[in-house]
Amino acid sequence: MDTLNHENLQRIYHHAGSTYPEECCGFVFADGTVHRGVNIQSELNRRQPDIHTRTAANGYTFSVADTLAMNQSFRSSNPVTIIYHSHPDVGAYFSREDENKALFMGKPAYPVAYLVVDVYKAQARSAKLFQWNGKCFACIQEFQVNEQDSTTHVRS
Ligand SMILES: [Zn+2]
Repeated sequence: MDTLNHENLQRIYHHAGSTYPEECCGFVFADGTVHRGVNIQSELNRRQPDIHTRTAANGYTFSVADTLAMNQSFRSSNPVTIIYHSHPDVGAYFSREDENKALFMGKPAYPVAYLVVDVYKAQARSAKLFQWNGKCFACIQEFQVNEQDSTTHVRS
């Protein structure tokens, strides 16, 4: 998928490092534009901890503005094609929670693939792209962050 070129992966890795130890979330449009989303999961958890048991440390929910922009894109000539989020310190896998979020009544909620970034100690290590195959979200591509690709991130 050429929307995930070197430059875009760097942007996404950098985003993932900057929100560590919380998850980042965002999406990529068909034309390759990377949109950094706002993860409001901790805000939801603060307001309704009984309903929203997860914080941004282990979950993500896009802001209303992000969700609106994404939904509008599906009716435009430049739709979102990839939704990304990061997994701090647990590896890049498609979790049950990720699947629940991606499905609506057993069918994909959005016509997109999902990129999950493995972040360890604020450094992106790898990323995996998952796509619905009719039964589950299967990994269709894996990206390794090599030394040339890695960016140094200084936590402030
Ligand atoms: Zn996840």
